[in-house]
Amino acid sequence: MSIIYLTDKELRAVVNFMKPKKRFVAGATCPSCKSEDTMRIWTQNGVTFRDCVECGFAEDNNILMQQNQQQQDAVQNNSKTDWNAKDKLIKIIDATAS
Ligand SMILES: [Zn+2]
Repeated sequence: MSIIYLTDKELRAVVNFMKPKKRFVAGATCPSCKSEDTMRIWTQNGVTFRDCVECGFAEDNNILMQQNQQQQDAVQNNSKTDWNAKDKLIKIIDATAS
């Protein structure tokens, strides 16, 4: 097992390397405060983040994907609910008939 000692300068270089590079998105409008050229975008651990320096609005593409997934789930749940409602309706009619 070997231990690597880093000088302050090297350590700072490593920290800078680990730090995500945030860059401004030219022409992008903040969905929250509608300011232009205030949106920054960067990638960390494979997730793309963006935020607004003007109002502090922040989101990542995981949130966006989760929202899409929730919307898809909601659609599927709605169709399931419809089927359940029909089943109940049939059962009620059956109960009344017998
Ligand atoms: Zn904003």
